[in-house]
Amino acid sequence: MSGIMKGKRGLIMGLANNKSLAWGISKKLADEGAELAFSYMGEALEKRVRPLAGELGSDFLIECDVADMENLDRAFETLKERWDSLDFVVHAIGFSDKSELRGGYVDTSLDNFLMTMNISAYSLVAVAKRAKEMMSEGGSIVTLTYYGAEKVIPHYNVMGVAKAALETSVQYLAADLGPEGIRVNAISAGPIKTLAASGIGDFRYIMKWNEYNAPLRRNVTIEDVGGAGLYLCSELSGGVTGEVLHVDAGYHVVGMKNPDAPDI
Ligand code: NAD
Repeated sequence: MSGIMKGKRGLIMGLANNKSLAWGISKKLADEGAELAFSYMGEALEKRVRPLAGELGSDFLIECDVADMENLDRAFETLKERWDSLDFVVHAIGFSDKSELRGGYVDTSLDNFLMTMNISAYSLVAVAKRAKEMMSEGGSIVTLTYYGAEKVIPHYNVMGVAKAALETSVQYLAADLGPEGIRVNAISAGPIKTLAASGIGDFRYIMKWNEYNAPLRRNVTIEDVGGAGLYLCSELSGGVTGEVLHVDAGYHVVGMKNPDAPDI
């Protein structure tokens, strides 16, 4: 540890358990000396998040359902009561009705379309609006996206459309907040087995496909994502904003199936 995050304070949104992408990022940030607060949704998750936060030296937990704007306001009020400023936010949140993460996109219902867009894309905008009030010295906002925003991935469906909106939001937010020294970026992570991913149809197949066809011939880990998160939250990426950084073992550059890949 070289302590590059010493004196920096950040909010981690979307830690569910020790498989979460947010956990990989939190560990790297804490290893480098960052002080962390964690938001969680619902009592059941608090029981999981509290001991994990404790492992990283934090007792600062805030309940927050990002679909509810009053709830989000309250969460940032709680943050302000204890901290007078904020250096970074990690937004690692996505949700859709899993019955629509299988089959075809054409069957997406309006209700689930709106809910998925709200929780998985609009929430970044709502978070950025509130976080910027605490970032008078500049800051960094990082979100998590997936290749299904760029190309069709079977079963990813409405989540892919929400991730496309999220990635474009990153660009618009970067332009809005750049003059205040606030950077906004996304990590496009390769498939990793997490609670959220378990809702996606044929996820095992997606992981195998990635492993066999990505240039690095492996899947990425939450530690890989953590390293990129540390980079984007820290001054190491001081000149980077509006970027979607692929942490996917290079899968996004591949145009054809690897001819030597085994059958899945
Ligand atoms: P995860 O299940 O560990 O995390 C998802 C989090 O979203 C959970 O903590 C959950 O409580 C939170 N959440 C859902 N609805 C919420 C709401 N209304 N308010 C507040 N929080 C809410 O899974 P993960 O895979 O670590 O997901 C984190 C992010 O990474 C998501 O945006 C996901 O789409 C993205 N991502 C995941 C993968 C993957 O393969 N796992 C790949 C690329 C991107």
